[in-house]
Amino acid sequence: MIEQTLSIIKPDATARNLIGHILSRFEEQGLSVVAMQMCTLSLPEAEGFYHVHRERPFFQDLVAFMCSAPVVISVLEGEDAIARNRTVMGATDPAQAGEGTIRAMHGRSIEENSVHGSDSAETARFEIDYFFARGKVYSYDLS
Ligand code: ADP
Ligand code: MG
Repeated sequence: MIEQTLSIIKPDATARNLIGHILSRFEEQGLSVVAMQMCTLSLPEAEGFYHVHRERPFFQDLVAFMCSAPVVISVLEGEDAIARNRTVMGATDPAQAGEGTIRAMHGRSIEENSVHGSDSAETARFEIDYFFARGKVYSYDLS
């Protein structure tokens, strides 16, 4: 099924000049960029985005990290885009991520792991709407 998912290239990756390389990995794996913005998140924006994790011990560190440098937020579209993006990203902890995944190649730690990707259809809808007005998301394959 053709789906859309939300991707964020995190501050550790933008700071190391990896935007183009990471976008290339998505494109090589059949994911098309259909909306994009670069910005530095505010603390309230990052807290709202990660509100499902607000009780986790790493929450404050995570939101501070996400606001520490610019991020590139994009909507990716393709066949099974949600699961496909998670496969291309690799496991949360770069030390556990499979060879050739973005996190294995570039992640610095379980927190500074270079990319975010939606984990379900419901999350993808929430996350896309969080950053993009519906009329601003182009689509190759969805009506
Ligand atoms: P994923 O990004 O793989 O979906 P989670 O949703 O569990 O992982 O966590 C969200 C983000 O929180 C992770 O990508 C990572 O940046 C950070 N994180 C997760 N677990 C930890 C941890 N144990 N310590 C520090 N940061 C963490
Ligand atoms: Mg997650």
